[in-house]
Amino acid sequence: AYELRLDGVSFSYSNGRSGPHHQPRALSDFSLTVEPGEFLTLLGPSGSGKTTALRLVAGHLFPGAGRIVLGDDITIVPPRKRDIGMVFQNFALFPHKTVEGNVAFGLQMRKWSKPAIRASVRRMLDVVQLTGFESRRAGELSGGQQQRVALARALAIEPRLLLFDEPLSSLDAQLRQSMQLEIRRIQQEAGITTLYVTHDQEEALTMSDRVAVMNEGRVEQVEGPKEVYHEP
Ligand code: ADP
Ligand code: ADP
Repeated sequence: AYELRLDGVSFSYSNGRSGPHHQPRALSDFSLTVEPGEFLTLLGPSGSGKTTALRLVAGHLFPGAGRIVLGDDITIVPPRKRDIGMVFQNFALFPHKTVEGNVAFGLQMRKWSKPAIRASVRRMLDVVQLTGFESRRAGELSGGQQQRVALARALAIEPRLLLFDEPLSSLDAQLRQSMQLEIRRIQQEAGITTLYVTHDQEEALTMSDRVAVMNEGRVEQVEGPKEVYHEP
């Protein structure tokens, strides 16, 4: 497993206008280390910079200052996208493709052989308990099933890092709870370093090894779930 480190990262969205009202920094002097194999959650109110931090780690945005290191890959900032599996709130599946086609997509891009792709898809669908769903269209599945397909897709590329952005927010409460346990089980079995974003305190406490509490673009505290629980 790989360590993820953010050192003194700052980021501002430019508003494309000049003048006195420049935007506050979305992240300012943000530092955080996720240990190899650790499940760390960014918890904070809307607008505190959680998604911005995730997008920087994913390489969708570039830091204005500081650096982001995955493993000992200090030459590549940000980490190469191909090493990262992502799961989003809205699943981001191809609705008209089959389950198998969705899970296979990243592997086809990587030019894996057909037998290797088939074997990986089968293994991943077993992990997320969707064996038998290979030929179903993704868009016809329930929300929970779609999110499991998204998770299988993210795992199939054998990522160094898993990123989750509010993956359970669009599911109902009961499904959310069972998916919390399932994601945690799969992450622990795979031993993949994981950064998870949520505004839901209960979710953060249930799932995480540690929780980083964010406010106004900074990390206010990083604690084990028990310690965070006793905060007011
Ligand atoms: P969170 O994920 O915690 O809700 P964000 O990272 O989305 O927080 O937002 C952090 C700050 O950056 C907020 O002040 C937000 O308004 C601002 N922001 C987010 N996305 C954009 C954008 N595309 N353009 C301009 N400002 C943005
Ligand atoms: P690059 O390394 O050139 O930036 P990637 O290897 O990350 O690109 O991605 C190649 C293609 O695979 C992109 O079209 C991207 O959308 C897709 N892709 C990347 N990661 C995933 C993933 N976890 N699941 C599915 N598709 C992915």
